[in-house]
Amino acid sequence: MNANPLLQAWNTPHQLPPFDQVQAEHFEPAFDVLFAEHLAEIDQLAALNEPASFENTAAAFDRSGLRLERAQLLLDNLTSSETSPELQEVERRMASKLAEHRSRIYMHAGFFARLDAIHAQRDNLSLNEEQGRLLDLIHRDFVRAGAKLQGPARQRYAEVVSKLAELTTAFGQNVLADESEYALPLTENDLAGLPPFLLDAARAAAEARQLPGWVITLSRSSIVPFLTFSQRRDLREQAWRAWTGRGEYPERDNRPLAKQILALRVEQAKLLGYASFADYAIANRMAGAPAAVHALMDQVWEPAKARFESEKAMLREEAAKLGEPADIQPWDWFYLAEKVRIARYALDDAEIKPYFGLENMIKAMFDVAGRLFGLSFSERHDLKLYHPDVRAWDVSREGKVIALFLGDNYARQSKRGGAWMHVYRWQSRNGGETLPIVVNNNNFAKAGHGQTLLSFDDVRTLFHEFGHGLHGMLSNVEYRLVASPNSPWDYVELPSQLMENWALVPEVLEKHARHAETGAAIPAELVAKIKAARHFNQGFETVRYAASTLIDLALHERDDADGIDIAAFETAERERLGVPPAAGMNHRPPHFGHIFSGDAYAAGYYVYMWAEVLEAEAFGAFEEAGDPFDPELADKLYRYIYSAGDAREQRAAFRAFRGRDPQAEAMLKSRGLR
Ligand SMILES: [Zn+2]
Repeated sequence: MNANPLLQAWNTPHQLPPFDQVQAEHFEPAFDVLFAEHLAEIDQLAALNEPASFENTAAAFDRSGLRLERAQLLLDNLTSSETSPELQEVERRMASKLAEHRSRIYMHAGFFARLDAIHAQRDNLSLNEEQGRLLDLIHRDFVRAGAKLQGPARQRYAEVVSKLAELTTAFGQNVLADESEYALPLTENDLAGLPPFLLDAARAAAEARQLPGWVITLSRSSIVPFLTFSQRRDLREQAWRAWTGRGEYPERDNRPLAKQILALRVEQAKLLGYASFADYAIANRMAGAPAAVHALMDQVWEPAKARFESEKAMLREEAAKLGEPADIQPWDWFYLAEKVRIARYALDDAEIKPYFGLENMIKAMFDVAGRLFGLSFSERHDLKLYHPDVRAWDVSREGKVIALFLGDNYARQSKRGGAWMHVYRWQSRNGGETLPIVVNNNNFAKAGHGQTLLSFDDVRTLFHEFGHGLHGMLSNVEYRLVASPNSPWDYVELPSQLMENWALVPEVLEKHARHAETGAAIPAELVAKIKAARHFNQGFETVRYAASTLIDLALHERDDADGIDIAAFETAERERLGVPPAAGMNHRPPHFGHIFSGDAYAAGYYVYMWAEVLEAEAFGAFEEAGDPFDPELADKLYRYIYSAGDAREQRAAFRAFRGRDPQAEAMLKSRGLR
């Protein structure tokens, strides 16, 4: 047998994973070795014969486990971007083992004793700000992992964490299976209203499944346009029910899993002395406590519902004109909204898309990164990547390569839905300069022929993920564990949401939003319409988002989840909050992957809106300066936001950038809720 590539040095450019050599069967044996190796490192730090110091505890901890992390990030990325039944099996089997290993490290009594001793003297150690932060964060992670627990509580805590990892993985896999198995086949007679780009993509999806005709999938870039354009109300209803029924298909019902997850989370929070999981989770974020989140949502919920009702009245008028039923159902909303949009804002996706070719938009975002941060991108064709659609760029700043950027933009069956950024390696200087490897994933429907064209929503998604990407690429810290985008989850969406603003900057559009066939710049009146249309449908969008947020909070603020019935709870909460039935929610609990396929966004779906408050304030600074590329602000943006990682406390970092604390007003205005 050949040597396991996960245990060898990676002598590739940028020490990129040797994608062509790694097989699913390499992971489990490698993890066994790497767990032992990492544990030995920590044992050694615990057994040091010299007094504990920042350097031999916190800094040394930051340098430990690197080979394990390398393999783990590779597995994470592959199971999301290019998975296989074999990899999923590995993922399922490794989930609890990885959690157990993490527990062994973070409950290491010997090492924690030294760390705790150093932490107790932190103010006398002459640490700089980043070092103080690193020490606090590592110490906090140990405490939150149960390092201070004794006896049976300690044992039980590890069990709870491990069981949670297993259940959340299963939850996510069920949703993925529902999404990848479902296909709505269409024949010649079912195509009324569908625009060419969707027909192209639906044809390609059918071919990929070796089916005749056209296929609509549950990928957002397939299902949402279908709901928007199909004139067939019966098919829209069928597609809608499949989409919103994910996670409760009888053979893979996620509701019992969600119930167990909630009960275990309450137990976890209580073991650490918190009243609820929401208290425990939010203590770790910029918001600090659930009350701060409610204070924000209270400013949003009623205005959003009021706006939703006025939008519904518009849709009713439109329905009457079209001879459609006045009783508007959620599967009618996208369709009628598009008609209203065309009637009132004359904004037609089919008219807009030719100006937003994917290739042009990639150039646009690189251009923005160049003007704001002095970055340049040079494509590499010599790297062996994990799929032919993936592209790679060396990223330079001030004449020096600072990152490798991967772009993986198209939907495929082996990739999960949605859009996200991840890393293959974090930036660091501790123990030697380490370049970050950053990947952006999108799920655009690849054009059957010609350039893939994007809706403006897709363009925003592209810029959004690129904002996360920049956060990772620009990270400029000493220690890996505080490298961007390692930030609290209600802060980490600031760099991404902020970047969306530059997609609508006139000089960027003038240069890059060029017609795919004629090369003509996008007409000014079309841009004006895109901007005017931004407030349209914000009632619907905000209600759907806020309803999911409020249900997430309600689920996680419980101090007892044993008797919970997920379906009944969802119904009762919708009733209590007055969620309008025609709105639906962004995510219903049975497929709410944000909160149930991992713990990062649990009691944390609010983070997008929290970050939107920060984002609206931050872009407001550029608007006040009258220049979207104002050099002084761009420099502050780099220093305090994009490069700072978690090396600075976020409220202070934001204040340093903006000169004041954030207020919700700019966000409410930009959503048209004022
Ligand atoms: Zn994001």
